Amino acid sequence: MTTLPYSRQAITPDDIDAVAQVLRSAFLTQGPAVERFEREVAELHGVAHTLALANATCALHLACLALGAGPGTIVWTVSTSFVASANCALYCGADIDFVDIDPATRLLSVEALAAKLAAAERDGKLPSIIIPVDLTGLPCDYAAIRQLADRYGFKVLADCSHALGATYQGHPVGSRYADIAVFSFHAVKIITTGEGGMAVTQDAALAERMRLLHSHGITRDPVRMEAEPPGGYYYEQLALGYNYRMTDIQAALGSSQLARLPRMAAERRMLAERYGELLAGRGWLLPAMPADRRSAWHLYVVERGDNNRARRDELFGQMREAGIGVNLHYLPIHLQPYYRKLGFGPGDFPHAERYGERAITLPLFPAMTHEDQDRVVALLGHGA
Ligand SMILES: *Cc1c(COP(=O)(O)O)cnc(C)c1O
Repeated sequence: MTTLPYSRQAITPDDIDAVAQVLRSAFLTQGPAVERFEREVAELHGVAHTLALANATCALHLACLALGAGPGTIVWTVSTSFVASANCALYCGADIDFVDIDPATRLLSVEALAAKLAAAERDGKLPSIIIPVDLTGLPCDYAAIRQLADRYGFKVLADCSHALGATYQGHPVGSRYADIAVFSFHAVKIITTGEGGMAVTQDAALAERMRLLHSHGITRDPVRMEAEPPGGYYYEQLALGYNYRMTDIQAALGSSQLARLPRMAAERRMLAERYGELLAGRGWLLPAMPADRRSAWHLYVVERGDNNRARRDELFGQMREAGIGVNLHYLPIHLQPYYRKLGFGPGDFPHAERYGERAITLPLFPAMTHEDQDRVVALLGHGA
């Protein structure tokens, strides 16, 4: 029996043609395909500035730097995410801490955030950046987070790695409320460039800062130089930057994939709704669907209603053995060995920990058939 993966990229002949065209052209990198892809994502998400990058981890790193993360500053995110959501703060020398999740949405709890901010204000240890994560593609409650940001003076860096195409209050994620938002185009995500990421913002100064840092801190713009350029060969390094560029090969694949996003998003949504119908009343905790948001449905996660970790693990093993590529997104970051050495431990974020003990990610991708889905549901049985 072939294994049904939890996610699988959808590559068409058009995608292959788009990539081959770049390979036959004059530019493999720093050519027109990257600019075009940046423009298309800007239009889709209603943002003024977009920066294509080697991956979303680079985007999170540059966003943290642009928003002022550094030694002596504090960054908060959620523990129920991929480790990159927290690591980006540590790259900058900032201190990291976590906010617990809301068990219903599995997203950053606004109540927990408000309480933690009030305590941090008393202690004089307010964070300068908060990184909400749109887990599974469901947008966080950005309006509420923005209100707290305005009151306490922190920046909002939205990790929308799962949420390309998702909307919040009728608007694309990343277009309002967040100072910077990032997307991932890793092979398993909504659309792919193999590896790839994007940072988006409405703020021209933040965009310029990230653009400088993504290519060695070098400028070729005479207006920004300290000296009068002596010739066309001249450039200046103004900051300690990196090589975090996306190639034109990747960007061409991204543009080609993006053209199919509406159809792929509709397929994901239909499969997710069908999971909801098939699994109703079987003791599983199903994904929340707040009326003011539309999920990108990157992942479909169910949780055991009986909260039984041993039975979850047993079922997980049985399904893998039966060729169903179930997965877990995510064990809490704060319980990773590296983070335990920083002082975090069990009991710190109880909702994130309980989620990690009872969640299972079911297969979900555009080409998945109803037959595949029926097999998953039959093997899953009851969750309580
Ligand atoms: C995938 C992912 C990232 C990192 O994306 P890359 O493009 O692989 O670097 C960051 N945050 C979350 C929530 C992710 O799922």
